[in-house]
Amino acid sequence: MISESGLYRTRRKDIGHVHDPQAIKKDQPEDSEESQESSRIICLSCKHPITHGDSALSVMGSHQHTQCNPAGIFFQFSCYNQASGCLVTGEATAEFSWFPGYFWQFACCSDCGTHLGWFFSGGKPNFFGLLNNKLTSQ
Ligand SMILES: [Zn+2]
Repeated sequence: MISESGLYRTRRKDIGHVHDPQAIKKDQPEDSEESQESSRIICLSCKHPITHGDSALSVMGSHQHTQCNPAGIFFQFSCYNQASGCLVTGEATAEFSWFPGYFWQFACCSDCGTHLGWFFSGGKPNFFGLLNNKLTSQ
């Protein structure tokens, strides 16, 4: 799938950012075609802009996470420090939180309402975990 391969590529570049942010910054002007700053991440259902590749964040050592909920369903998601296209809904709860010390709420597309992932708060930093199969990049 195009969307998935796009996100995997973003992830590898993000790891570079984390390990050597200075070096990546210098390289970016030559890397305009795949520059994260130009990659908009949009809702797969309605194409509403959700976040940007340059908001990608590494949480507990990884941008991308795979977690299982109490019902045994696996979710593959990526972390972003902001997602202005998301509407955060529901009460913050620490129940079954995948990230120790964090509360979570649902994060939905503010346009079509599709559940896109979760907003994790109460720790440092707060972040969005957004489902890879609900988003695509542009
Ligand atoms: Zn949407």
